[in-house]
Amino acid sequence: MIRLEHIDKYFGNLHVLKDVNLEVEEGEKLVIIGPSGSGKSTTVRCMNFLEQPTNGHVFIDGEKLTNKNKTQIIRDKMAMVFQQFNLYPHMTVLQNLTLAPIKLHHKTKKEAEELAYHYLDVVGLRDKANVYPTTLSGGQQQRIAIARALCTQSKIILFDEPTSALDPETIQEVLDVMVKLAKEENITMVVVTHEMGFAKQVADRVVFMADGQILEEGTPEHFFIHPQHERVKQFLGKIIRS
Ligand code: ADP
Ligand code: MG
Repeated sequence: MIRLEHIDKYFGNLHVLKDVNLEVEEGEKLVIIGPSGSGKSTTVRCMNFLEQPTNGHVFIDGEKLTNKNKTQIIRDKMAMVFQQFNLYPHMTVLQNLTLAPIKLHHKTKKEAEELAYHYLDVVGLRDKANVYPTTLSGGQQQRIAIARALCTQSKIILFDEPTSALDPETIQEVLDVMVKLAKEENITMVVVTHEMGFAKQVADRVVFMADGQILEEGTPEHFFIHPQHERVKQFLGKIIRS
């Protein structure tokens, strides 16, 4: 489904990804953890060419992403949920949700609105269709951003720290929606998060990154019970205590 092959990424002289190899299977729920600056966001952003790898290749469904085909492949197969929601403030929730389906996926307004209401039900916010995003709490805005990703009907959704910008009391409602997606929708999910409870509930696999490399990977249980590297133990000690 997604394959990163020998990915290197430099920002100027800064070598932020060092020969990253990673394969995500269809329907897999993959969680990426690791300290700040370790290259988690860059890895995920390379998957949809928001960052172009300096070296190496990205394959989606066996097809190598190139500058020529990237727009269409990404539009058809991938959506992303960001830490900061990235909703359009001057558009209502419904307009935010129907924008891509109408503009990019050739849906009629009626079809796009049906989709939007369907996914608003999934995230539990049907009654917010006609409000502006800034009137909503962070947790609600992020649930709208998830609904927007779902409205593209992408098989792959990338999440980059979707709960890191939220007030503590709204984190759980977003995690609940993500757990529901993981269990009910047949989507491939790649999630950068430090929410190990979420990982335990849904992740097929957890990858730990440090210094631009994958240092350790395994099931959530592996990380809870017998992580191998000292750095992983220290990191988990910190995030699980906090
Ligand atoms: P993480 O998501 O694990 O915190 P990132 O992938 O965001 O890590 O960043 C990895 C490294 O790359 C960091 O040192 C960061 O400062 C650097 N970096 C990320 N994006 C850019 C950019 N656009 N320009 C320059 N340096 C960047
Ligand atoms: Mg990041």
